[in-house]
Amino acid sequence: MTTGYDALTAHIAELSDILCSISVLKWDARTNMPPGGAATRGLQLATLSKLAQEHFTGEHTARLLDAAERDVAAEPADSYRRRAVEQTRQYYALMRRIPADLIGRKAALAPVSEQVWAEAKAASDFAAFRPYLQQMVDLAKEQADAVGYSEHPFDALVFEYEPMMTARRLQAVFADLRTGVIPLLRMIVANPRPQERDLWAHEYPLEAQKAFGLSIAQRFGYDLQRGRLDIAPHPFEISFTRNDVRITTRYDRHYFPMAFYGTLHETGHGLYEQGIHPSLTRTPLTIDFLGQYPVGGTSYGAHESQSRLWENVIGRSRTFWNAHFDEMRQHFPAQMAEADPDLMYRAVNRVSPSLIRVEADEVTYNLHIMLRVEIEMGLLDGSLRVDELPEVWNSKMQEYLGVVPPNDALGVLQDVHWSGGGFGSFPGYTIGNIMSLQFLEAARRDTPGLDAALARGEYAPLLGWLQENVYQHGRAFSSEELLVRTSGRALDTAPYLAYLREKFSDLYGLPA
Ligand code: ZN
Repeated sequence: MTTGYDALTAHIAELSDILCSISVLKWDARTNMPPGGAATRGLQLATLSKLAQEHFTGEHTARLLDAAERDVAAEPADSYRRRAVEQTRQYYALMRRIPADLIGRKAALAPVSEQVWAEAKAASDFAAFRPYLQQMVDLAKEQADAVGYSEHPFDALVFEYEPMMTARRLQAVFADLRTGVIPLLRMIVANPRPQERDLWAHEYPLEAQKAFGLSIAQRFGYDLQRGRLDIAPHPFEISFTRNDVRITTRYDRHYFPMAFYGTLHETGHGLYEQGIHPSLTRTPLTIDFLGQYPVGGTSYGAHESQSRLWENVIGRSRTFWNAHFDEMRQHFPAQMAEADPDLMYRAVNRVSPSLIRVEADEVTYNLHIMLRVEIEMGLLDGSLRVDELPEVWNSKMQEYLGVVPPNDALGVLQDVHWSGGGFGSFPGYTIGNIMSLQFLEAARRDTPGLDAALARGEYAPLLGWLQENVYQHGRAFSSEELLVRTSGRALDTAPYLAYLREKFSDLYGLPA
């Protein structure tokens, strides 16, 4: 007999199939599609998105939900089945609150606004972008009002990316980071270390870069039977269920770290998706209902915690270069002739307050995020006007990083996010950084010999802990629940700040 639960999950499995098909088309558009395909691809995506929307938000889903809720009512609160039904209900209610015409207006504005932004950035002309940004801010406020919030309109928008987060909690997190990071950065700037011999003056053949990057990705545990690595101008990871999880990177002939750390970053995202329990495939627990993606990770922050853990905490560690330098030298014998593990470690951990977020080092990265989040909150609560942005941006850059952009292309216009209306997405990067160290601390506590394994370049113990405690659950537990279950605490900046202090005090010879 088919139960109410079975009927609901069969319905959602079809939604998952549509969303996965959308993702395949998006992957293709961002890697292989000739430019001529853009216009018709846009129409194909719009049609499939409309089908997905209708499939999920119709009255049929409500009836299926009622029956499924009766089926799981007596099950434990943390059972996958009950979680699957609860989350479907929560997002169904939420999506029904957002008027269809608002979604339509935003979808119509986004491509135009992104195009205007790209031209405005190229010309460093904020005034050209300003009216479009104003419309995006107005739509974001409308959406926040439709979704509802109790304290700050930002709460309604950040929910899409990080359900545990609110403006108030973020302000406390950033206050901790400010106190911990700004004095550290000032000391680093006051104690510059001599420039290493310039490793990146050499040429690094692209085939060797790809081979070395992939060999490390596989060593971390990325499964090429269920994954592949391609080139994309803006690297990303995308999954069409746990059995097909693709990553991309971009190459620079000289600057080896770009492709290598790009690959390790996306590998971290990929390990999360590949590690989801097979029973969750095509279920509500691997769908981001609001983002309209089939994504197994529980939030943007949880996802970034994995990309940043594998890229930075592992991949940029002294331990990593001690373990893998010989392999690096096999791929690049001439380039590495004069180098050693310590030199590589130093060369990939240079701190310098810079203008561009995506090029920022571990110490300054979160200051770039803090500035953006403060501006978003101000725009949404009305304490900041769109026309004030360039000036506010530059004064915050001076205050936090001690550098001021010479023009708006290198300042307020640098990121694509706002042109598409992505307000609320930036905190995920910083939350991910913080979570990554909480998870690692818990993994160390639970896994004797973890550090000895890492020193041998063996990652199975760490990956196994992450699969068991984080990855396999998909979206069954919120990121806050994952933190509490593993570390015993909610989001806590202390392990992350201790990590930064220890690593960079050592690198820069500062008093610990
Ligand atoms: Zn990422």
